[in-house]
Order: sequence, then C-alpha cells, then structure tokens
Amino acid sequence: MNSKRLIFLIMSTFLLSLPLAAQQIREIAMPGLPDVAMATYDQFGPVIYYNPQIMRQVPPALARFFRLHEHGHHALNHIRREYFDANPYNRAWVRQQYEKEADCFAARRLTPLERRQVIAFFVNMQGPNRPDWYHPTGYERAMVIENCR
Ligand SMILES: [Zn+2]
Repeated sequence: MNSKRLIFLIMSTFLLSLPLAAQQIREIAMPGLPDVAMATYDQFGPVIYYNPQIMRQVPPALARFFRLHEHGHHALNHIRREYFDANPYNRAWVRQQYEKEADCFAARRLTPLERRQVIAFFVNMQGPNRPDWYHPTGYERAMVIENCR
C-alpha cells in the first residue's frame, strides 16, 4: 500500500468515526440488562449500557441500529442528568416522540441495505405491537425509518 492511500484510509476512518467519537459516550456491556440497550448517566457522565447476549443474537444491522438509537437519545438531549441522581434506571424521560426522534437519528446513519433490514425486522417481528407503553408500534417505527433521510 502506498503512503497516499494509507493517509487517505486513516483520514477517512477518522472522519467516519468523528460523529460518535466527538460525543465521548461510553458503551458498557451489562449482562442481564432487561432491554437491548439504554442511554443513561453514571458518575462519569453519559453512558450507554447494552445487553451483550441480545446484541450477539440480532443481525448486525439491527445491533448497529440499536447502538445508534441510544446515541441519538444523548445527541438530541432527551435525557437530563438530574433524572438519574436517585436511580440510573429511571425511564421517566422516555416518550414515544423521543423514540421516533432517536430512530430517525439512527436511520440517517444506516446504509440503504441496513435500513431495509431494520425496517423488515420491525414490520415482521413487531408489526402492530409495541414492546411497552413508551415505544411506538413496529409499523410506526418502520415508517419513521423509511421516511428519515
Ligand atoms: Zn429509545
């Protein structure tokens, strides 16, 4: 590999990683977490906890989508630190609109192929259902991901 190509590779890798790296949000594996991932704060600042077993079981496009979704909650300031002083698992901040905004944040960062795979997951695996009261239905999430460009 010549040096020009090497420099191009290093620069493009750096630039591609910049949007996430700039936020300096740690991702910490938490076996047994009762959800695929969650955005929260700990004593060191913003953090994303994820369930490593679930992340291993879902297709790579979906794992990437879930990570980006949680980064979206931090980037869009959906979470305010004071909610977590007493209980880091507090989900009181979660609203369906926030979920859709975080889905949109993630969808914009997927490749077209990844986007199709994530849409297929929500249509086929959740459809008209929602996993809990604060998440949109699978159909609603598929629509958001489809329309976010
Ligand atoms: Zn969310």
